[in-house]
Amino acid sequence: MTPALNHNELEIHEGQLFGAEELKVAKMERSLSAEGVLDIDLDPHRFHVRIPSRLGGKAVIAKIRTVNPEAAYNSAPREVLLTANSSRQESLSQLLVSDEVDALAGGPRTHKVMLDGDVEINSIKIGAMTYPFSMKVPVKVKKRLVGTIIMVGNTGEYLADIEAFNKVAKERYAQVGVDFDFNIVSMALPSAIQNENNIGLWITTGSNNGPHPDASALVDKAVADNLKKEITMFVVRNFVGPEKGRAYPRAHQPLGKEKLANCIFLSGEDMVKVPDPGGNQPNQRAWFTIAHEAGHILTKAGHYGPPNPGYVGHPGLANYGGESPPLVGHNLMKDGTFNLNTLSSSKRLKRMQEQMFLQSLLVDP
Ligand SMILES: [Zn+2]
Repeated sequence: MTPALNHNELEIHEGQLFGAEELKVAKMERSLSAEGVLDIDLDPHRFHVRIPSRLGGKAVIAKIRTVNPEAAYNSAPREVLLTANSSRQESLSQLLVSDEVDALAGGPRTHKVMLDGDVEINSIKIGAMTYPFSMKVPVKVKKRLVGTIIMVGNTGEYLADIEAFNKVAKERYAQVGVDFDFNIVSMALPSAIQNENNIGLWITTGSNNGPHPDASALVDKAVADNLKKEITMFVVRNFVGPEKGRAYPRAHQPLGKEKLANCIFLSGEDMVKVPDPGGNQPNQRAWFTIAHEAGHILTKAGHYGPPNPGYVGHPGLANYGGESPPLVGHNLMKDGTFNLNTLSSSKRLKRMQEQMFLQSLLVDP
């Protein structure tokens, strides 16, 4: 026997599990305080488990889990108490999150999930009796972003880090319903490139304004058609200039010089080895650079909002990524992303950015 549920009696709320056709991953745009403390009750993507009956006031427990394309993201079955109020049994607000940092911060009311995963209720306990029950609500992909990350030449030592940053990017984009699907491959250094440690990207002086021959050599070798709905990222050892990464949105390339369109160049050296400007986080990694550079291509825009404090050229606070009190950096597209992966890092995409994506390289699922 399962509890009789009459869906006609349900109130229709956004985020309601009983009756909800799908659930979304939270990006905490409104639920983090200025001090970086999460209040799940304020999150627009929270959900409740509700039964539209008091069931005689008996204690009710629903067992929730998530099942995902990658088992590492499954959240173990968790008992959620449904407390009786005047008209129904209802849980506290719950949140779906895409990464371990958010899951730890939110405690037992957060459930880790991937896009294409499901939230499932497998049993309901009423009083002393447990009843089998089956409800499955999908977490759907809205759009897919396809691409290739190419490890160029002698960059194998950065591979493990690039894999980790790629995973973090996938978790970021899950928060806006975008499946970030990048394949990592390797490629020999094109013979035209002379200095593997100092690859040129762009010539900005004189009449030669345009792609540097090094950048052209990389693109010629790897990109058959740069009008395709795909992004190509090149991880090189290092390039001229101090950046960790540089993106070339199609809209920004002058006529006749569209060669680099939809390409991203990443400096393995700068992403993995260079300490932050304050020199106080020697083991940090550029966790969000891949996600940030892809954001330039998708928004077809440069940086949005004021730079992060402490970023090179903007001294503000030296200890960026670990401010006290912490600053909530919701904006992944600021100039300079936080390097530490914390709850309040600059690792989230805003609703505005989500909407800018709609006319980008994304393909329908
Ligand atoms: Zn940028």
